[in-house]
Amino acid sequence: MSEPKQIEFVMPPQKNIALIAHDNKKHELIEWCRSNKTILEHHFLCGTGTTAKMVATQTGLPVRGFHSGPLGGDQQIGARIVEGKIDVVIFFSDPLSAQPHDPDVKALLRIAQVYDIPIANNRATADFIITSPYMESTYTHTLMDFRGQVDERAKNL
Ligand code: PGA
Repeated sequence: MSEPKQIEFVMPPQKNIALIAHDNKKHELIEWCRSNKTILEHHFLCGTGTTAKMVATQTGLPVRGFHSGPLGGDQQIGARIVEGKIDVVIFFSDPLSAQPHDPDVKALLRIAQVYDIPIANNRATADFIITSPYMESTYTHTLMDFRGQVDERAKNL
């Protein structure tokens, strides 16, 4: 079978950023959003339910809220990555507590990797991402041609 074709995707200067924090990390994420408010104001923000609400009320930034993480919010964000509607994920996960929705968390990390989405799982990574020149410009990345791959597989399997 031939190698899957690659296609280019362009992230716009104004990014769609998803915010997620596990309970023990919510205050750290809110504090990070406060520190980076002037940058975040230039982008579109969304997040899992509780995180989105807390960030919005405590920083004044507009954040579109999905369902709460344990009730499917991580999966909603994963689905939007697949649809090309999310460019960056800031996910302050808690490495020291068991999460009931661990499979969903793993699924989100995996799908972000598949779609070459920058994803920060701690503050230092988030700082590096938010100060990147790509946050203010277009960024072109090359992904597998997922639709072409389906046609190819349907023909050859
Ligand atoms: P929450 O979900 O923002 O609704 O608390 C976050 C998570 O635990 O994934």
